Amino acid sequence: MEAFYTIQGEGQFSGHAAYFIRLGGCDVGCVWCDVKESWEAGKWPILSIEELVAGALTYPGRLVVITGGEPLLYNLNPLTQLLKSNGFAVHLETSGAHPFSGQFDWVCFSPKKFKKPHPSIYEVADELKVVVYHPSDLTFAEEHAALVNEACERRLQPEWSKASERLPELIDFVKNHPNWKISLQTHKFMDIP
Ligand code: SF4
Repeated sequence: MEAFYTIQGEGQFSGHAAYFIRLGGCDVGCVWCDVKESWEAGKWPILSIEELVAGALTYPGRLVVITGGEPLLYNLNPLTQLLKSNGFAVHLETSGAHPFSGQFDWVCFSPKKFKKPHPSIYEVADELKVVVYHPSDLTFAEEHAALVNEACERRLQPEWSKASERLPELIDFVKNHPNWKISLQTHKFMDIP
């Protein structure tokens, strides 16, 4: 769908310069999705993996984040292999709704209530990031936390439009459950993509 060089705003690598490759296509259907234009893959041009990597090489950063849409709709092995052979660290942002593929240095798994994750994601997730839109999402977060590895980072992120409502609950929750951390969408505060 698009590729752009920016600052990663969320999660473990918040603040790092990164080249984002946003793959078109998503069948998850989150009501609060802020990239609904990504859902229809056919609306976007088809680029070769060589073209995608050449785009990343034009910037000084050597961190690529593959996002979507839902990137695991595709076999990510060829793209991630080519990125890694060109010296990039490669991160994934996924809902885990399709079988895992690719070679990643960091896998951020953000499960969604709207489509059940594929079981292959749980053992490879380095970070569990649950978007909290409604108070019941905390129960959903705990259910998924029970399925990932012990070392997996656990983060709660208030949905942007509900941030002022949800944040006081999240602050209390994390103070009482210190194995969780809060993630904020800092790129939105910085007004960058
Ligand atoms: S998984 Fe991501 S791209 Fe797909 S609908 Fe949900 S927020 Fe949007």
